This record gives sequence, C-alpha cells and structure tokens, in this order.
Amino acid sequence: MHEIYAAIFLVFFFGFLIWLFFYLGKTGRWRSPEGTLSGKDRRILFCKVRFYKDLNDEEKKHFEFKVSEFLENVIITGVGTKVRRTDELLIAASAVIPIFRFPAWQYLNLDQVILYEKSFDENFRTETDNYGSDSISGMVGDGPLNDKILLSKADLHRGFANEWDGSNVGIHEFVHLIDKADGSTDGVPELFLEKQYVVPWIELMQRNIEQIMNGRSDINPYGTKNKTEFFAVASEYFFENPKKFKANHPDLYELMEKMFRIKENPW
Ligand SMILES: [Zn+2]
Repeated sequence: MHEIYAAIFLVFFFGFLIWLFFYLGKTGRWRSPEGTLSGKDRRILFCKVRFYKDLNDEEKKHFEFKVSEFLENVIITGVGTKVRRTDELLIAASAVIPIFRFPAWQYLNLDQVILYEKSFDENFRTETDNYGSDSISGMVGDGPLNDKILLSKADLHRGFANEWDGSNVGIHEFVHLIDKADGSTDGVPELFLEKQYVVPWIELMQRNIEQIMNGRSDINPYGTKNKTEFFAVASEYFFENPKKFKANHPDLYELMEKMFRIKENPW
C-alpha cells in the first residue's frame, strides 16, 4: 500500500517540477541581444520610422537596443510570404514605440509574430479580396494562438508609409498586448497607469467614445467598438501625429503623455 502512495507522490512531484520548468521558462526575462543593428538597419529605421528619426543620438541608441532585444527574443514567421529585414525592423519598431520610455519593459506575453502577405479573414485566408468588413489587418491571438500577434505585411508597411494619418496597425496590436499584460484587456493599461489616473482615464475614454458616436471627433470610429479598441486607436494617433492629437484632444493628450511617460528621460 505504501508503494502506491509513494508512486502517487512521485507522479505529482515530477508533474510539479515539469510545470515549474515551463512556468519559469515562460516568465523568465528576455535574453540580451549579442550584437546591435547594422548601419543598413539604422538607415531603414531612419527612412521609414519617423518616431526613430526624431530621437536624439542617445535615444536612438536605446531604440536600437530595444529593437535588437525584441528580434533576439521573438520569432517572426511568414505565412505565404517571405519575411524580409525591413518587415522585421518595422514589427520591432511597432513594439518599441509605445514602451520606449519603459527601459525594462519586455513583452513576456509574446513569443511569435505571424506575418501574412495582406489582410485576412476570420479563417486566416488571404486568397479572397477581403477588403470588406471582415478584413483583418492585425490581431492579438487567443486560445491556441495565445502569445502570438498576427499581422498583414501590406498593412504594417502602409501604417509606416503614411506618417501623419494617425493610423498604424503595428502600434495598434502592441498596445493591445500592453493592455493585456495586466491580465485584462479592457483599455486600462494598469502597468502603465498610476492608480490615481485610472478613474479619470476610464471617464475620459467614455466621453471621447460618445464624441466619436456624435460625429464630433476625428479619432477612428473603430474606437467606439469598446474601450480596448478606443485605447488602441487613440494610441496610434497619439504616436503618429502627436501635434495634431494634442491640438484636437488636449485632455486625452495630457493623460496619455503621463501614461507613456513622454516627458521622462529614463536613461
Ligand atoms: Zn484592435
């Protein structure tokens, strides 16, 4: 009889060890990148990413480090499309822009970005011309696709090609991931937002969603879907065209400036 108890104990004990191994593996910190970006990489960023172009030399170095760190730790896989260096750099730039003033931030809830040639439908098909309402240019995966972001290459590039339209699908999806990192995807990035700003932020989102509904806002109407989407589209606009965003939405700008620590220089 004792042998049975011992066997049961051993099964649970080894089960626990296996769980611990994977748990620690998942929550461990990212590996440090071995090298840094090449001159060619830096030129691509300079030509295509206005956010990077506007940084001073010290900030550029930090941006390059975060891009290298991201590419060292996140796998980028093309489905029906070849992943080129520019694609990798634009994906990493999308990830780094919203967390730029958080030097220790690492996307521990992400292990892979899946890149499609163009937008896809809910069954991940790109064959049809899905430019209708079911066209998806990016999404944060769930269930079996947990820890993954899916992106349309054409839309990723379009987001960076037009620097002033306030639209950037790459930034949009990474903002969802930041929102999700506190355990709930609800438009409130608790890890970014100091406690005293949570309630004002929720009220501000609600007021702005109503303004979009009443046709009194230039924020993407997709933001009326829910607070999660509002936070993502407002962030795209905030990072792509901060001057216009500040002029048209001073209340939102003021709070988001605190949220993303825009005035801080943590280096
Ligand atoms: Zn979204």
